[in-house]
Amino acid sequence: MDIDIIELSERKARFVLSGISASFANALRRSVLAEVPVLAIDEVNIYENTSVLFDEQLSLRLGMIPLKADLKSYNLPGECTCSGAGCSSCQVSLTLSAEGPKVVYSGDMVSTDPQVAPADPTIPIVELKEKHKVVVEAIAKLGTGRNHSKWQAGVASGYKNMPIVTIGDCDGCGKCVEVCPRDILVVNGNKAKAKDLIECSMCRLCEKSCDMASIKVTSDPESFVMMFETTGALTATELAIEAAGSIKKRAEQLGEILNTL
Ligand code: SF4
Ligand code: SF4
Ligand SMILES: [Zn+2]
Repeated sequence: MDIDIIELSERKARFVLSGISASFANALRRSVLAEVPVLAIDEVNIYENTSVLFDEQLSLRLGMIPLKADLKSYNLPGECTCSGAGCSSCQVSLTLSAEGPKVVYSGDMVSTDPQVAPADPTIPIVELKEKHKVVVEAIAKLGTGRNHSKWQAGVASGYKNMPIVTIGDCDGCGKCVEVCPRDILVVNGNKAKAKDLIECSMCRLCEKSCDMASIKVTSDPESFVMMFETTGALTATELAIEAAGSIKKRAEQLGEILNTL
C-alpha cells in the first residue's frame, strides 16, 4: 500500500491510497465516521431555563457541540470499571450559567477537566433577552458515531477511484479543453494533455466532445482519492491514526475468534 498526501491541515485530510481494494477504502471511510470515540454531552441537568428554547432544544444544541479532550483519560462507559454507572474515568461535567441580555456561546461552558473544552468557543447556543437565564450542568461521555452523530469525529468522509484520462491521436482542436468543467485538460504542442487528474470528476464531457474519439476516461480499481474533515474534536492526523487503528483492532479480534474455531 502506498500513500500520497495531497492536503493535510488541522481539520482536513486528502490523500491517495494505492494498492488497496474498494472494501478497504470503504472500511476506512466508515471507520472515520463511526468507529473513533470522542466526547459529547449525553446528559443535561437543567436547573433554570427561561430562554426562548425548550429544555429539549437546549439539550440537543449542547449535545452537538464538538468537545476536545485528552481521550486517553477516558473510557467508554461500557468498558469502564464502574460498569457504566458513571465515574471520573468515563464522564466529565461542564456547567453553563448565563443571564441576558447576551448570546451564550460554547466557550461560556466551564469544564471540571481543564483538558476538556469545546473545539470552537464561538458556537452560538441561545440568545438570552433581558432577565432570561440559563443554568445547566452537562455530562459528557465517550461514544462513537455508530451510536449517534454527536459522537462523529469525522464528517464529509468519502473516496473515489483515481481517474485515468488517456489521449490517443489528437489534432489539438481544443474542444475537450473548452468543455472540461474542472480545467484538467490543456493543449500543449498541438496535443491535449491531462493535468491535476485528482480533480477530474469523471463526467466524461471530454469524451463526448472529441470528434476523433481520442479521449478515454477510466479509473484505477486499486487506487483511491480519500478525503475527510473533522469536527475539531480530533486533528485530521489523530483521526486518521485512530480510524486505521480501529480497523486493525477489529481485524485482530476477528482473527482471535477464528483461531478458537
Ligand atoms: S472527465 Fe470531465 S472533469 Fe475529467 S477531464 Fe474529462 S471533462 Fe474534465
Ligand atoms: S477534442 Fe480530441 S482532438 Fe480535440 S484536443 Fe481534445 S483530444 Fe485532441
Ligand atoms: Zn466509569
